[in-house]
Amino acid sequence: MAAFPNARFLVSAAAPGQFPADHGAEVAFAGRSNAGKSSAINAIVGRQGLARTSKTPGRTRLINFFELSPRERIVDLPGYGYASAPEAERRTWPRLIEALRERDALKGLFVIVDARRGIGEGDEALLEWALPRQRVHVLLAKADKLTRNEGRRALAAAAEALRGRATVQLFSAHARAGLDEAQGVLRAWLGDKEKTPMTSDEATGAD
Ligand code: GDP
Repeated sequence: MAAFPNARFLVSAAAPGQFPADHGAEVAFAGRSNAGKSSAINAIVGRQGLARTSKTPGRTRLINFFELSPRERIVDLPGYGYASAPEAERRTWPRLIEALRERDALKGLFVIVDARRGIGEGDEALLEWALPRQRVHVLLAKADKLTRNEGRRALAAAAEALRGRATVQLFSAHARAGLDEAQGVLRAWLGDKEKTPMTSDEATGAD
């Protein structure tokens, strides 16, 4: 059975006024284009085709909201790392994500990183945007492309680069690896009554 059997597409927002009402709980997913974000969302939710995977990088700049249950949502942010977005979209983009960050409903951010690339500049910019208000969990995606040893090294390097600012795990949508851990974090954050700052104990995540 799917992890979130009632998941459904809610709305694509091009402006903050189109966001769903700011109640309940939501967790945002972001990552460099092609990092494997859509595949990660589909695997974690348990619904193929919910978030559309795309071979066209940076194709859309809309923020997509998916409902998992009446008071729980996933927010799918457009992939970054490509400068090809039209000028008009580039101007509205900061306003959109600023508005998102201020929402009471937003409980945390998943950052999807290609495990072979590691934490990059765009990911760093996103962390700057999110912290310290939001908790961050990093998925080192496409981990099936790495050997066990490479995976271990990638995890250690990412934990070092994150320096306690985020938790991090290996993940593969294709091999369905790291699913339980990712679903556990998502459920914990969605279920939180209060958004509590991450303690340094919680931020280790490397082992
Ligand atoms: P997005 O642009 O970040 O949403 O990435 P997608 O989910 O669309 O995936 C981008 C590409 O990476 C596609 O060709 C996927 O098939 C591939 N991909 C996604 N997840 C995995 C994975 O777990 N393992 C491997 N080997 N490839 C993956």
